[in-house]
Amino acid sequence: MSTASSMTIHAGRLSAATWFASPNFNKRPENIAIDAIVIHNISLPPSEFGACGKDGVHYVKALFTNKLDWEAHPYFQTIKGAEVSAHLFIERDGAMTQFVNFNERAWHAGRSSYLGRPECNDYSIGIELEGSDFVSFSTAQYEVLAKAIVAIYDAYPKTRRHLTGHSDIAPGRKTDPGDYFDWTKLRELVTHHLASQS
Ligand SMILES: [Zn+2]
Repeated sequence: MSTASSMTIHAGRLSAATWFASPNFNKRPENIAIDAIVIHNISLPPSEFGACGKDGVHYVKALFTNKLDWEAHPYFQTIKGAEVSAHLFIERDGAMTQFVNFNERAWHAGRSSYLGRPECNDYSIGIELEGSDFVSFSTAQYEVLAKAIVAIYDAYPKTRRHLTGHSDIAPGRKTDPGDYFDWTKLRELVTHHLASQS
């Protein structure tokens, strides 16, 4: 089934991701199927990539673990106290971190609705790419994202038909992953990796 380059998920954790536990999660509703994947972009400060605090922790990772120093940048004051997370975060070089077990409910979507169903956090897996609405994403990010999605498809088959973006589930409120995110490229890579599996 699997190739040397494929990623696997065991007990809600992706093998290829570095685990960095976030307190920002809770249980999914009873008997709910995990059946959607939501793509986001984030950068802290906005449009700066790879920036870290004095503790050496990447600002986005600090945000997702409630360790962000709100005084470190004026922008951080505007999000002060936010308690958010994603299941996965993929940096510009393709480094991938997992903050929340896929079987738990991460806090990435906020007020949202997908195909008429509210509360996307209940049933989705959230993946943040380090980026912005104004620049292209890296080749490494697409590669790692596609492989992660194939692993998620394997572990949670109902997600296969529901790959979406934050702007699609929270229109008018959210714009990510933005116009520079190449859905065609992603879908082609996912198809390629699915084909090479079988
Ligand atoms: Zn988002």
